[in-house]
Amino acid sequence: GAGLLAGKRGLIMGVANNRSIAWGIARSARAHGAELAFTYQGDALKKRVEPLAKELGGEVVGHCDVTDSDSIDAVFAETERRFGTIDFLVHAIAFADKDELTGRYVDTSEANFTKSLLISCYSFTAVARRAEKLMPNGGSLITLTYYGSEKWMPHYNVMGVAKAALEASVRYLAADLGPNAIRVNAISAGPIKTLAASGIGDFRYILRWNEYNAPLRRTVSIEEVGETASYLASDMAKGVTGEVMHVDAGYHVVGMKNPEAPDL
Ligand code: NAD
Repeated sequence: GAGLLAGKRGLIMGVANNRSIAWGIARSARAHGAELAFTYQGDALKKRVEPLAKELGGEVVGHCDVTDSDSIDAVFAETERRFGTIDFLVHAIAFADKDELTGRYVDTSEANFTKSLLISCYSFTAVARRAEKLMPNGGSLITLTYYGSEKWMPHYNVMGVAKAALEASVRYLAADLGPNAIRVNAISAGPIKTLAASGIGDFRYILRWNEYNAPLRRTVSIEEVGETASYLASDMAKGVTGEVMHVDAGYHVVGMKNPEAPDL
């Protein structure tokens, strides 16, 4: 068929519901002709992901909790069984204890630090290693990050540290996998109201701050993040790897509050 991603197969990890960034990416990739496989985390999300996958004519390859490496192996084995090879992978997975997404970073516990970095950073490396085996003809790995990795943001705390490590791992993975024509990039999305975001303190204030201060004077949608992911998954981005691409209505270039913005 025709389309930017026609003939390409992708594994989508991180759909929780129809507000998930991974869902915006899946819809865009499908609209551009990709064939998709989905993982879900636990039975509660299975019930949500199955109908969504079906809506896009996709496959559900099983439960994957990235803290359980057997479950990662199982979904890659199932993906291989159904698809043989894949062309792109989307990692839209992060976690931090809600109680520590408020207050001070300095008070982060060792247990929360370890778990947050395991799920939000190491898991991308864990899936990249497995994806490499299913990408004999090259491919594209995409993860999601946030500007709180580059600058201090209120309440983002351990997630900012995890995203900084994730972005560094994008560069190291790009160098490791580049010789096999596997590209590795991150999308740094502006704030979007999703399940994960609802755990972040004062999230509505963050959304409004972006609406008043981003160059485009608005926030971004999961559809817009999806379109950029489709570009990164496609041959149009054949020369792009190790990149952190901001899809944030330009917020990352702003150095000071817009003087025309109201006091929030
Ligand atoms: P979401 O809640 O829809 O998705 C988060 C996903 O992470 C869920 O599907 C959940 O099942 C999965 N997950 C958490 N722990 C897991 C584990 N142990 N094993 C497997 N999966 C696990 O929220 P979202 O905002 O779409 O988040 C997707 C990605 O986008 C995350 O990396 C997030 O940090 C990033 N991001 C979000 C925003 C935003 O404002 N929403 C901005 C920039 C980046």
